[in-house]
Amino acid sequence: MYDIPVTLTSAPKPKPQDESKLGFGQIFTDHMFIMDYALGRGWFDARVVPYGPFTMDPACTVLHYAQEIFEGMKCYRRKDGGLQLFRPRDNFARMNRSAVRMGMPEIDIEEAMAGLTALLRADADWVPSAPGTSLYIRPTMIATDVMLGVHASHTYRFYIICSPSGAYYAKGLAPVGIYVEPELVRAVRGGVGFTKTGGNYAASILAGAIAEEKGYEQVLWLDGKENRYIEEVGSMNMFFKFKDALITPPLLGSILGGITRDSIIKLARSMGVNVEERRLTVQDVFDASESGDLEEAFGSGTAAVVSPVGRLCWKDREIEISGGKIGALTQKLYDTLTGIQYGEREDPFGWVVRLD
Ligand SMILES: *Cc1c(COP(=O)(O)O)cnc(C)c1O
Repeated sequence: MYDIPVTLTSAPKPKPQDESKLGFGQIFTDHMFIMDYALGRGWFDARVVPYGPFTMDPACTVLHYAQEIFEGMKCYRRKDGGLQLFRPRDNFARMNRSAVRMGMPEIDIEEAMAGLTALLRADADWVPSAPGTSLYIRPTMIATDVMLGVHASHTYRFYIICSPSGAYYAKGLAPVGIYVEPELVRAVRGGVGFTKTGGNYAASILAGAIAEEKGYEQVLWLDGKENRYIEEVGSMNMFFKFKDALITPPLLGSILGGITRDSIIKLARSMGVNVEERRLTVQDVFDASESGDLEEAFGSGTAAVVSPVGRLCWKDREIEISGGKIGALTQKLYDTLTGIQYGEREDPFGWVVRLD
């Protein structure tokens, strides 16, 4: 239905030989998918072309007013060599929600799927196969009008680039230390917290540097109004396992609705876990730690799947969670979800899209 012309590169790059050294987001494949948009015309010229730089006018809207959105997902190689995606249409649907809020045009999800599929066919050999590795996929949309006036651009570019990425956990699930940011906030209700837009990340960089300086790997954001309620961490949603419930903050507009978050909620419920989406203050968490009610805490996101929290610092106090180790439920959710993503476990939810 969608005919995507493919121009293959005449100069393929050497592929990384040692998959244990892939890291994240530094190596890019041979091709990219592009389509362009003009007001009144819609999306046009969907194509797969050799990977390479864009030429941009210095006055381009995206460079000044950050009219930009992106997505993040992965392509997994199964043991039988085949490739598969995890809930990719949910990523494109979320991109459309981001687009609406940022005054940008929506994409046709099936056209984006056709473009992604054509790209992955061209770059199939770039999907690594060592355990825990994957091909990270970055769909992006930028405003390309050349003008300094502040209004919605009339032209846009949507593109997808891919980067082979290493195993997030080289030596098994490793708990992280997290710093609760007491002052700076990431997003407010009515703002753009629920969108995947670059500006949200730009605004988080200072807090990240402060946390790192204090010896913590990630920042936990509190709500922008009262500075009490737990929102999310860096690029992950948060879960707290209390004795009687697995609790995660509700999607009220200021946090990003993670696809991993949604998958964890559904998976945990299918395991008989009582999952509650409700607001939780950082004081609640510290109290529960003291009373022994807090058993586990972890972040969820595409990159790490789940990331156990071993230490949590708030103002001048630090608590240790699960004895600084990985909790049983955290491990079980990680094993089950990655098992589905790599095609080693059954997929009762219909989340996987096989490419062959
Ligand atoms: C991408 C992202 C997440 C996680 O979303 P997934 O779909 O699970 O990868 C969480 N928070 C923020 C701010 C994000 O940008």
